[in-house]
Amino acid sequence: MTNKKAKQKAHKILLQNRLYSLCNCNDLERIIKSYQFTVIEYKKSNNPENLSELIKKLRVENEVMHYNSFLYIKNNLKFLFINKDVADNDRCSLLRHELGHICDPDFTCSEISHSEIEKEEFANEFSCYIKNPGALFKFRIFITRKWKLLVEIFLLICFVAGLCFLINPPGIQTANSDKTCYVTSGGKKYHEEFCITVKYKNNLTEYSIAEAVKAGYEPCLVCLPEE
Ligand SMILES: [Zn+2]
Ligand SMILES: [Zn+2]
Repeated sequence: MTNKKAKQKAHKILLQNRLYSLCNCNDLERIIKSYQFTVIEYKKSNNPENLSELIKKLRVENEVMHYNSFLYIKNNLKFLFINKDVADNDRCSLLRHELGHICDPDFTCSEISHSEIEKEEFANEFSCYIKNPGALFKFRIFITRKWKLLVEIFLLICFVAGLCFLINPPGIQTANSDKTCYVTSGGKKYHEEFCITVKYKNNLTEYSIAEAVKAGYEPCLVCLPEE
């Protein structure tokens, strides 16, 4: 049950933002900020004075000590606290996890994350899906991102096919394939009777155009026998 909801929510976020996956801290922070959260970077110790005061005032000293990230939601305040000293990769994982809490419909206000196991599961599963939503889903994003280009390519193909049909309707070729053409001994092309390149030659073999094509001969570029 949780599983499906986390997956749906992750897909929804990716679709809204037209992203194949969320593997970039900047994208993650932008989305988190769109939920009116302020991102606050802290250190385990030696924070600047105003930040230390805020930590004290909100009574999150314990969280600062024991976690690398957590949410604070209370009295219309929405903060995402994150350890400044974690590596970029870890920072992404932490942001994905916290975004999972933010997107959890059962995550009530006025609480600090890292509470109930069920909610941690939702956040972790959400985090997995948003990092790797699967090939089929990525294809869906590809279509949403590129549909204009795909429509353009389709129209272009239709246009070219239409043009080919107008220039060379299939009926004419079949009519011509019974026509007689000539091949010189050792030659690789088939020709019209009047073609300058065969006119004074003996040893001409007579074919229908269809037979000549079937035997692997190509139309002469001088007399263009098919036209
Ligand atoms: Zn959590
Ligand atoms: Zn010819």
